[in-house]
Amino acid sequence: MLNVDLGLLHKQRRLEVEAEIPADDPGWADAGIVLKEPLTVVLEVQQAGPDAVVRGRLDSRAALTCRRCLAPVAHEIAEEVTWLFRAGISEAEAESEDVYALPARSRELDLLPAIWEQVALAVPEYVLCDPDCRGFCPHCGGNRNLVECGCTKTVVDDRWAALRRPPE
Ligand SMILES: [Zn+2]
Ligand SMILES: [Zn+2]
Repeated sequence: MLNVDLGLLHKQRRLEVEAEIPADDPGWADAGIVLKEPLTVVLEVQQAGPDAVVRGRLDSRAALTCRRCLAPVAHEIAEEVTWLFRAGISEAEAESEDVYALPARSRELDLLPAIWEQVALAVPEYVLCDPDCRGFCPHCGGNRNLVECGCTKTVVDDRWAALRRPPE
């Protein structure tokens, strides 16, 4: 499904790839990503001389948690992609040139590794439910978005008290 038949591409010059990768695909867990919806893949593969150019879109929503208060946060994945699969180069050369290596002996081109990589880059490591999220109180553990626990005042007072205390 996400393998491009290179013989067919050579003949037709252009192939369309449309697929859905389920949210429970084990590949997501391996990449440390939790999706709320399947990933929609709409790509066009074009023969460009000996190379292949892939363009299109990847869409889904990732399930993240707020770094401060742990509330669930949905993160939109809407990636426009352009990948060049260059013929006749090694994986290492491809990596340094920010392209992919077109497999030399294979009859097929597997698009999955590029898809995993793109989605992993599209999902931030840390998010906030709101830029003003107040998080948990480090003293009483209360969610300060929901309750005014009143610890802050006490803490400030304690600090002043410590400053006022004469050195021993
Ligand atoms: Zn939050
Ligand atoms: Zn508190």
